[in-house]
Amino acid sequence: MSGLSAPLSSVVGGKTAKALEKALGLRTVDDLLRHYPRRYAERGTLTDLAMLEEGESVTVLAEIEQVTSRPMQQRRGSILEAVVTDGKGRLSLTFFNQKWREHELRPGRRGLFAGQISSFRGKRQLAHPQCLLLPDGVDDDPAAIEEFAGALIPVYPATAAVTSWHLAGSIRVALDTLADVEDPLSDDVRTAEGIIGLEQALRQVHRPTDAQSWREAQARLRFEEAFVLQVVLAQRRAQMALLPATARITGSGPLQAAFDRQLPFELTGGQVEVGAEIAADLAGTHPMHRLVQGDVGSGKTIVALRAMLGVVDAGGQAAMLAPTEVLAVQHHRSMTAMLGPLAQRGMLGGDVDGTKVALLTGSQRTATRRRQLLDVISGDAGIVIGTHALIQDAVEFRDLGLVVIDEQHRFGVEQRAALAAKARGGTRPHVLVMTATPIPRTIAMTVFGDLDISTLTELPAGRSPIATHVVAVLEQPGHVERAWERVREAAAAGHRIYVVCPRIGDTGGPDAAEGDEGDDTGDGPAVASVIAVAERLASTDLSGLRVEVLHGRMTAEAKDDCLRRFTDVDAADGIDVLVSTTVIEVGVDVPAATIMIIIDADRFGISQLHQLRGRVGRGAFPSLCLLFTEMPKGSPARERLEAVASTTDGFELSRKDLEFRREGDVLGSMQSGRRSSLRLLEVVRDEAVIERARAAAMAVVEQDPSLVSQPALLSAIAALVHDDQADFMEKA
Ligand code: ADP
Ligand code: MG
Repeated sequence: MSGLSAPLSSVVGGKTAKALEKALGLRTVDDLLRHYPRRYAERGTLTDLAMLEEGESVTVLAEIEQVTSRPMQQRRGSILEAVVTDGKGRLSLTFFNQKWREHELRPGRRGLFAGQISSFRGKRQLAHPQCLLLPDGVDDDPAAIEEFAGALIPVYPATAAVTSWHLAGSIRVALDTLADVEDPLSDDVRTAEGIIGLEQALRQVHRPTDAQSWREAQARLRFEEAFVLQVVLAQRRAQMALLPATARITGSGPLQAAFDRQLPFELTGGQVEVGAEIAADLAGTHPMHRLVQGDVGSGKTIVALRAMLGVVDAGGQAAMLAPTEVLAVQHHRSMTAMLGPLAQRGMLGGDVDGTKVALLTGSQRTATRRRQLLDVISGDAGIVIGTHALIQDAVEFRDLGLVVIDEQHRFGVEQRAALAAKARGGTRPHVLVMTATPIPRTIAMTVFGDLDISTLTELPAGRSPIATHVVAVLEQPGHVERAWERVREAAAAGHRIYVVCPRIGDTGGPDAAEGDEGDDTGDGPAVASVIAVAERLASTDLSGLRVEVLHGRMTAEAKDDCLRRFTDVDAADGIDVLVSTTVIEVGVDVPAATIMIIIDADRFGISQLHQLRGRVGRGAFPSLCLLFTEMPKGSPARERLEAVASTTDGFELSRKDLEFRREGDVLGSMQSGRRSSLRLLEVVRDEAVIERARAAAMAVVEQDPSLVSQPALLSAIAALVHDDQADFMEKA
């Protein structure tokens, strides 16, 4: 008899245990029993063969229709071909030199066949699949009888080394010896939810008697996933709420007031409201942990800047972290410009109420950097903007009151924690996190569940519309020509044009990635590169225009200079057309830019395209975004592009994005690791479950913050946090 924590070798034997670890990373009984079936095949219902896609690893339940054997033409030996059917479609199975199988592969018999779908002469096939014939009463495999006596056959995520039925066999052994299962869900929680216990759920999920039985099991296990995760988040919140922070009373100081007076526009209702939420948090003696989300261009930067000014008014300093150097420099420039004399304290023409805005980046010259650091440590710089360099090095603040983290999805929990340790005397700075793109509610609750969330739901008035079109370059060469014509017209009118390519394309080794700037994965046809496209455009379609390149492998100064010349329409050395990688993806703000052309747009994801498109439509003129692609109509890649063209509503797009992408990718790209803990839970579909789990988790943590009365829950949390490698709790 063994519990969930027992090593697999003690249950299924050393050899099998090794195979399971190697193929699927399963080490304990718990790991194995949490390897849930992907689906259940019904003995009487064959797998729909039409659904299988080339390249997919599958386990199909099908009936043998016909078997033929012939000698090979080039070599010695024979090929056995079995055609199996689901009653409509057919799939061909080929076996080399396994003539003996002819005997067992009799027409009319049913079996499980596992392998990777390939295609041969236009027919889909499984080459040398693994097979297990279902018992038919004649010459039955005893293992098969035992495994498939039930009406439902569990089909597991499997590999070539470990088939679905081998897994089923090991799982049966583990279930037979299973004992002493402790349930992380208390009786109270289970009763309130009306769900079954863990042991019963594990038995039913693997060996269900009927559909009701696995549904019941899944419901319970799904709730558990959501619950344990929400308990972790609730604990984090509770712990953070206990930490001391210096209250910063904002809203009545001279700097923020002066800034508000000089703003050339009215704040939106949302900006005012979110500003008030932040002010209330800042006035507390425990640290704020708030996420501000909103669509591209909804004006998050102003919200952050006003909060920072408020903290400076209250005697503290504020730091803003950007994910890339380009963005840090850009933020620095736009903030000093917005602040004007307010950012020039101590300088001629500077405002007496003003402050200094320091910039800290990795590639600064030593002398510059030293000067900036001095301003930070003396407190002369009320606002500090920088990249990771800001948190890694020995940057000391005089009195860090607020940290703003821009574009959170590229920042891990660990960096947040490291930065939090920068405040003085054991207190914590307040933390404001800004997302680059809007996030659906349930994702926010799952990924950012330890933060309070504010949402900017409206865009500032007077935004110019952006028209988006997909241009199929192979089918519509005329449209391509017309596009370059429009670029020339726009340039003649003094506007700026972006051309984005997926990769850099010079020969200096693999393309350097700043952020997730494209690298050449080497697959498929050649993908447009910045260097080649810029050269071609400058000498053909756009000859006579000022075309320049921007990418992550340029020096910080060159990048900065390039953006300055692109932004400043009055510059004598201005740039009309900027051919760039996704370094311009986030935050870059050039009001004169009216056209964005994205070449090989199918190489980008939906939210990335939406981000990129957000670089235009920021000034007084209507804008245009063209998505160039060679993908054929009807292909999934093309449909993604059509989706982007169909709406400029970021919230709607983020939902569509989820429909296209697998959930795990979404979570994975937001915060590494979280994926590993979600097996049955689907963040979008299971919104109701997540909300109930969240409420239950908060109640449990409130009653017993350290969970001493719930050891099973504590070990489930330990496993999750370990999986996540998010040892935030120790660091916070
Ligand atoms: P986000 O970071 O949310 O994508 P930004 O903060 O960069 O958006 O704002 C986009 C643009 O809108 C900037 O040029 C900014 O100056 C401008 N802006 C912000 N708030 C307002 C407002 N209330 N009215 C008009 N323009 C605004
Ligand atoms: Mg922004």
